Amino acid sequence: MNDSILRQNWRRVVDEVHEATDKAGRKVDSVKIVGVTKYVDAETTLELAQAGCLNLGENRPQLLWQKADHFREQSAEPVQWHLIGHLQRNKIRRSLHCNPLVHSVDSERVLKAIGDEAVQQDRVVDALLEVNVSDEESKTGLPIKEAAQLLGGGPPAGVRLIGLMAMAGWGTAPDEAKRSFDSVRELRDRLEEQCDVRLPELSMGMSGDFQQAIEAGATIVRIGTRLFEGILDR
Ligand SMILES: *Cc1c(COP(=O)(O)O)cnc(C)c1O
Repeated sequence: MNDSILRQNWRRVVDEVHEATDKAGRKVDSVKIVGVTKYVDAETTLELAQAGCLNLGENRPQLLWQKADHFREQSAEPVQWHLIGHLQRNKIRRSLHCNPLVHSVDSERVLKAIGDEAVQQDRVVDALLEVNVSDEESKTGLPIKEAAQLLGGGPPAGVRLIGLMAMAGWGTAPDEAKRSFDSVRELRDRLEEQCDVRLPELSMGMSGDFQQAIEAGATIVRIGTRLFEGILDR
C-alpha cells in the first residue's frame, strides 16, 4: 500500500524536478534529488530506495546509522547517504563509516574534526559548507565572512569542499526564496574567484521551494514532505 503511493510520489517529484530544470534551460540530469527520510522509519526508507530514490538524506546522525544498518541487513542496493543536519563532533566517526556527503559543515571545528577522522579512516569525505546568506541569528550556517575565511585557508586533508548548502528558511514566500537562492549562487561565484576554489555543488531547495532553487542554479534539492504525502497523514 505505502509502496505504491511512494512510487507515485517519487515519479511525480522526479517529473516536477525535470520540468523545473527544463524550464530553467538547464540539462535534465543537472539536478540531483535527495529524498529526505527523517519523517519515516527504516522500512519505508528502504521502500523509497526501491522506488528509485538512491540519494537519501537524514538530519540526525543516529538515524542515518540505523538506516544504513537496516539497508546492510536487507542486502539493499547501495545508496548514497547525505547528512543534512548539524553534525556533533562525537558523531563523526560512525557517520563517516556510512560514507555520506556532508551538507552541513557549519564551523571550522567541525571541518577540522571531519578531516582528522577521515584521515584516520583513510578516506576522503565530500562536504558542503552550510552558509547563512541572510545573516539572521536564528538561521543555521556559517556567516559569509567565516565561509570565506574557511575556504581561503584551504580544507584540511581528508576533506573535499565541493559546494555550498543553504536554507531559504521555513515558510518563506516564493519570490523571497528565489532571492535568497540567487544570493547563495552569487556568493558561490564570489568565493570561487576570491579563494581560487571550485564549488560546483549548490544544495538548496526543499518541498516548498525547489522550483525556485532550480531556477537559481541548485544542483541538489532536498525533498521530504512531498515524497510522503498520503503516508504521513494517515
Ligand atoms: C527536513 C529537511 C528538508 C526537507 O524538507 P521538506 O520541506 O520536508 O521537503 C531539507 N533540508 C533539511 C536540512 C531538512 O532538515
